[in-house]
Amino acid sequence: MKTAGIHHITAFVRDAQATVDFYAGLLGLRLVKKTINFDAPEVYHLYFGDEQGSPGTIITFFPSAGSRLGTIGAGQVGITTYVVPEGSLDFWRERLAKFGVEVLETTRFGETYLQFGDPDNMQAELVARQEGPNSTWTFGGIPADKAIKGFGGAVLFSLAPASTASLLEQVMGLEKTGEDAGYARFRSFGELGNIIDVNVNEMPRGAGGAGTVHHIAWRAKDFAEHERWRAHVESSGYQPTPIVDRQYFNAIYFRELGGILFEIATDPPGFARDEDQAHLGEQLMLPEWYEKYREQIVALLPPIEVRVLEEDQL
Ligand code: ZN
Repeated sequence: MKTAGIHHITAFVRDAQATVDFYAGLLGLRLVKKTINFDAPEVYHLYFGDEQGSPGTIITFFPSAGSRLGTIGAGQVGITTYVVPEGSLDFWRERLAKFGVEVLETTRFGETYLQFGDPDNMQAELVARQEGPNSTWTFGGIPADKAIKGFGGAVLFSLAPASTASLLEQVMGLEKTGEDAGYARFRSFGELGNIIDVNVNEMPRGAGGAGTVHHIAWRAKDFAEHERWRAHVESSGYQPTPIVDRQYFNAIYFRELGGILFEIATDPPGFARDEDQAHLGEQLMLPEWYEKYREQIVALLPPIEVRVLEEDQL
C-alpha cells in the first residue's frame, strides 16, 4: 500500500488569535474550519490550508491559553515544511523580515530552506519547488503566485530513526531517495506533503506541549482504502485505534517505534461537508452531538478573527 503523502499535521499552541494572525495573517493560509476539539469541547480546533482545505495542505491547532510549552525533540515531527512556488523565496525573506520573524537560512539535499518559529516557537520552514498546483487563495497582499501551496513535507525527529525509516518504506509505501548530512529522504507519490526527511542523528527526547506537533496524518484515498490501511498497519505489528469519525475525515492512530504519533485520515468527505465552500471557516461548526451545548461551548471560547495585520496595512 502507498500513501499519497501527508493529509494534515496537528499541533498544540497557547493563543488562538496569535495563531490565526500568524498562519492566516502572515503566512496567508485560509482558515478552512473553526471547530472544537471533539475530545475537549472547551478548546478550539482550528484548521488552516489552501482554498479548499485540500489534503496535503492542512495544518491544525488546539490552542489552550496558559498551557505549558513543550520541548521539540525526538518522538515528534520536528519541522513542518511548507512549499512555495519557484522564485518566491526572496518575497518570503522580505515578508518574514517585515513582520520581525527571525529566519535561519539552511540547505538540505541541495535545496534552500527558510526556517523560523511560530509564536510558540514551533518550527516551520519554507522551500521553493515546482511541483504542486499554485495556490488560488490570496490574503494580506500575498499574490497567488507567491503563496504557500501546501506542505512540502516534514522533518521527523525519531527516537529510532532506522525503525521510522523502515516504517515509511515498508508500511507507508514511500520511496527512499537519498541521504545528506544527517538526513534520510523519502518521497511519496503525491504532489504536496510528499517529501519526508528523517533526522538520523541521535537527539534528546521531546516533551509534548504548546509549540510542538501532536501528530502527523497520512492520506487514505477513500473509506474502503482506509479499512485496508488499518488491517495493513495492524498486520505490520502496530496497534491502530478503531476507526474514529472526525467529521471531515475518518481517522486511525498508532504510535510508531520512533515515538511519533501517526494517523491515517481519509481524503473524503472534506471541509465543504457542513459549510459552503465560499464561507469555510467563518462560523463555529460543531458536530451534531455538541449542537445542544453550543451556547455553553461558545462562552468558553475566546473570540477570534481572521484579519489583515498592521504590517500589511502600511
Ligand atoms: Zn489528526
